[in-house]
Amino acid sequence: MSEKTETTIEQAKTSSKGKDTTVGNYFVSNYPPFSSWKNEGADEFEAAIARPPSPDTPLGLYLHIPFCRKRCHFCYFRVYTDKNAAAINGYLKAAAKELELYRQQPFIGDRDLDFIYFGGGTPSYLSVDQLTQLTDDLKRTLPWDKAREVAFECEPGTLTPHKLKAIRDIGVTRLSLGIENFDDHILEINGRAHRTKEIGRAYEYARELEFPQINIDLIAGMVEETEDNWKRCIEKTLELSPDSVTIYQMEVPYNTTIYKEMREAGKLVAPVADWETKRRWVKEAFAALEAEGYTIGSAYTAVKDKTKTSFIYRDQLWAGADLLALGVASFGHIGGTHYQNQHDFEPYVNDLLDGKLPVYRGLTPSDDERLIREFILQLKLGRSSCQYFNEKFNTDVLKRFAAPLQQIKDWGFLTVEGDEIRLNRDGLLQVDRLLHEFFLPEHRNVRYA
Ligand code: SF4
Repeated sequence: MSEKTETTIEQAKTSSKGKDTTVGNYFVSNYPPFSSWKNEGADEFEAAIARPPSPDTPLGLYLHIPFCRKRCHFCYFRVYTDKNAAAINGYLKAAAKELELYRQQPFIGDRDLDFIYFGGGTPSYLSVDQLTQLTDDLKRTLPWDKAREVAFECEPGTLTPHKLKAIRDIGVTRLSLGIENFDDHILEINGRAHRTKEIGRAYEYARELEFPQINIDLIAGMVEETEDNWKRCIEKTLELSPDSVTIYQMEVPYNTTIYKEMREAGKLVAPVADWETKRRWVKEAFAALEAEGYTIGSAYTAVKDKTKTSFIYRDQLWAGADLLALGVASFGHIGGTHYQNQHDFEPYVNDLLDGKLPVYRGLTPSDDERLIREFILQLKLGRSSCQYFNEKFNTDVLKRFAAPLQQIKDWGFLTVEGDEIRLNRDGLLQVDRLLHEFFLPEHRNVRYA
């Protein structure tokens, strides 16, 4: 996981509750909020990696590839568009070195990697030679042969048949195409580097290579999105018939080009659809996908065949797996401690050149905070099992979360049926807003990132 921008929970709540889209993060990716992770927490991280692993805790690997052809106007990730081949090669060597340093630590134990995720940025920005060298280096240190999933994010315009073949050959099982929209004007005005003809070509090559799973990403409510265009996006998606579809609702965090332009023009409202419209668009897309046999697997994802298609990275992360995160600004979680790497390129690479792990802040959540984290992340699936939390945390979540559950029930979004806590579709489509109800009071008005 990569760098999030700064916002307050109140701003995020207000922006999604109200009609307009204003500045701030909406998406909740972790808990406690990143702003409570501190430099002192880095020592706790040192202690966590020196302990043997907890029994039955899977181990995953995340690698942040922070390079892109262009910076999208809505992007808030740590990315670079100006690094030459030498700088990129240096970065990849640093990441390989980072894994070597971790390999010597007791927390790995005798675990094999269960899942691997190449995120960004744009992992497919790497050349075939860079990709091959990088993955050879990583596999030499920690083999992948037992991993159940290797996920890889791509920008369609960076893909050639030769590169896609290399991506398939390194063992990628889940190819994720960042399509976002099927209209050239909308792609252009939002600063995307790719165009529609590249989408069709990339998808076709990927299908020919028989990747086990192809996911496509869309964003509902990009700048200048219209009702008609969104309908065409849904139709095009159905024509491609990918294994899974992930749809995000457009948010406008602080460090985006869109917000910079809003600030310069003295505007408080972002030039994108309001939250109700974005939710309706996702609802319509989900309904169209369901009509074609897809199943809604989370607040953001539809899968074509749920017996064959899973998303192990997401499911394991939301169930408390260890995530060994490599790369600049990456977020990981090991042995009960959250950590984040140096968030600038040079300090990250320099730490590794000096033989040091590049961790700059961390946090060890309390047992209650771990429970909240896992509970809220699993609610993004739309349902949660009480028994699971009883067995894992020895806690009756119906009692522990009685007040927020009642509140969300009163709003008409939640039911409890037997062992299951369920969100209905309207609740699911605004789950990130609802999750704040479960936060501890001290985390409700702090900066989120
Ligand atoms: S491709 Fe993704 S990571 Fe790169 S600039 Fe665009 S949104 Fe950001």
